[in-house]
Amino acid sequence: MRALFALALSLVGTVGSAQTIVIDPGHPSEVGVGTKGRRTTELKVAWEVGLALRNRLRREGYAVVMTKQRLNERVTNKRRAEIANAAKATLMVRLHCDASKGSGFSVYYPAKQGTVNGVIGPSPAMLRAVAPMARRFYRAMSQTLAGKLPSEGLRTDAQTYVGRKQGALTGSIYSDVPSILVEMVVLTNPKDEAFILSTAGRAAMVDALAQGVKGAHEAAQLDKLQQSVEGMMPIGSKG
Ligand SMILES: [Zn+2]
Repeated sequence: MRALFALALSLVGTVGSAQTIVIDPGHPSEVGVGTKGRRTTELKVAWEVGLALRNRLRREGYAVVMTKQRLNERVTNKRRAEIANAAKATLMVRLHCDASKGSGFSVYYPAKQGTVNGVIGPSPAMLRAVAPMARRFYRAMSQTLAGKLPSEGLRTDAQTYVGRKQGALTGSIYSDVPSILVEMVVLTNPKDEAFILSTAGRAAMVDALAQGVKGAHEAAQLDKLQQSVEGMMPIGSKG
């Protein structure tokens, strides 16, 4: 069965149409302009990494949609999700930098529904779809950044300040497509700031994110395939 999946996956990969990835460079939004380091800002790092990731993914054959068109364009988190929904994206990657006493990158995904302004989301189907994608995304990032930048782990929306209050992040609640948020570095940590400002560190981060997208994309394809195979099985042989 595993070999069958691998074969079908390679076929899907070669004949499939371009997959759309939405890149969401964080801030400015209703939650503000983001955190600051000593020499740069979260706003600037997310924008620059976002553009570099866009170019990289386009070279690899993905269709890419950005949630904002210039550095200082203010877009609400609800609107950012709507852009991903309209694009029917395979994945929305939300780029942020953290402010804490820690160091390294962390990846967040919605693991349960939340509520904001009376709206409940994401859907159970989306929650089911995003979990394996987030695991693969995180694993690919960890492998690429091993020995370069520490990892703070794979976490859920409920482990963020806003997610704790709402159940999930606003961007996740309004999103009909799988959305993953990456805190790329802890920008208030001078070591992390130096990493993301260095040419090598920046390149490693863009590479890690691109590998993460690739891993998540493969997980999504495998998941769809698995579901269709299960759908074809006679009742009683499932499990
Ligand atoms: Zn942020």
